[in-house]
Amino acid sequence: MKAGKANILKNVFHPIEWAKSLTRKPYKPKGDPELAAKLNEYSKHRPLGSRRQICYVANNNMLFSRDGTVLACSYNQQFKFGKYHEKSIDEIVMGEKRTQFTKAHQHNNLTLGCNYCRNYIVSGKYQGLKTMNYDIYSGNKSKWPAVLEFDISSYCNLRCIMCNEKNREVETENNIYNDKFIEEITPLLKHIKEAKFYGGEPFVIKQYYKIWDIIVNLNPQAKIFVITNGTHLNERIKNLLNNGNFEISVSIDSLNNEKFEKIRKGANFEKVMQHLDWFIDYSKRKKRSLSLSMTIFRENWEDIPDILSYCNKNKISVFFSYLYNPRELSLWTLPNNEKDRIKEYLSGFTFTAKSAIEQYNRKCYTEIIEHLRYWSQNFDDKLQLVSQLSNYFIENKNMSTETARAHATEIVLNLTKLIREAGYENQLETIIATIRNGDMQSFYEAYLNKSAESLKSELDTWVKSLTL
Ligand code: SF4
Repeated sequence: MKAGKANILKNVFHPIEWAKSLTRKPYKPKGDPELAAKLNEYSKHRPLGSRRQICYVANNNMLFSRDGTVLACSYNQQFKFGKYHEKSIDEIVMGEKRTQFTKAHQHNNLTLGCNYCRNYIVSGKYQGLKTMNYDIYSGNKSKWPAVLEFDISSYCNLRCIMCNEKNREVETENNIYNDKFIEEITPLLKHIKEAKFYGGEPFVIKQYYKIWDIIVNLNPQAKIFVITNGTHLNERIKNLLNNGNFEISVSIDSLNNEKFEKIRKGANFEKVMQHLDWFIDYSKRKKRSLSLSMTIFRENWEDIPDILSYCNKNKISVFFSYLYNPRELSLWTLPNNEKDRIKEYLSGFTFTAKSAIEQYNRKCYTEIIEHLRYWSQNFDDKLQLVSQLSNYFIENKNMSTETARAHATEIVLNLTKLIREAGYENQLETIIATIRNGDMQSFYEAYLNKSAESLKSELDTWVKSLTL
């Protein structure tokens, strides 16, 4: 067996854990037969075998978002552990809200805002669910979260054409994530297994350096994941990376010099590629994973095969994400014949899949074709509502693109379920089209502040008043 494959298997397969998992069945969630019916099938897809809980994110993860809200994860924007500044870190970690959420998860109760995952499991889509990545922490009994995610600033040195970040703020000393925050977070940093840093561009965010220094000094085994645009690499960063346990993902959207610089406004292609060479060497030397992150949209879909070949050649995992906003740059809003043309183009390439990385990369490539197929079949008002809501969250709620998208998807899935339960399946598209033509703020406030029952009864009156 090749070393790379052996390492990957070693990370996900533990014979004793696997043997135990054969007798470990998930708890049946009360009052949710649809979810209960899917649990055995869901267990079969878990890399470490069956587990009692569906999701171990609850007690193992905390996400610090830009306005100070502390969440369990980006897929659940509804249930908040608290707001930093109004409460101390200690009060949030030990607080009632976190305990309540953890207890709900111990009974597989996903009703506290976890509809995104719940609906994916119910519809049988298990691939890539965040829940599974945390199975590795299922044995963690500590009161401290194993993973911290930092999405505390949108500060960035580039102005990429597809970037939705409206508030690429300049760092100020008045930021709520100031040195007092760093002081309060330090006890947690000693216990974590992983920390993840998002931006903006993490390597230009000053507070991140302070957090990295603490982790490297107090907890050097902890994994530090950073997603960077690759423009910054100086001696200080190299030293930091050499001393800490870093895993890097570099965002590259094209290997064509001109196209790259047109997309990543302000970046120098040659320089980024030199930095990427250093990261490749670093990951080999330190035996760390490295990934290349490509955002797919109208400007660069032709470059996908090139990117994949480059990753295979350099033994890097690829990570594809899709641009949903701005809609005029996205693939999903293209006419179906255009999407078919892209599908055909991509289907014309073949890639070897001998090593574990190559197999993984090829799987990611075929998923793009699947996505195009899905978009062709589902280019409907629901997707457009997700896009409008995401824009509203980015512009008015200071959410990152990923978070906004996840929250909007969760709301639209919920809304669809609610409309169906209220008996209006046949009018679904018309109702959603009507909401789309209205004001997103009013819709969001009604959704947040009213119970499912009162929304259903209002829907009743409202539908009767519409000419359907
Ligand atoms: S939204 Fe999903 S991943 Fe997040 S805590 Fe809930 S079930 Fe877990």
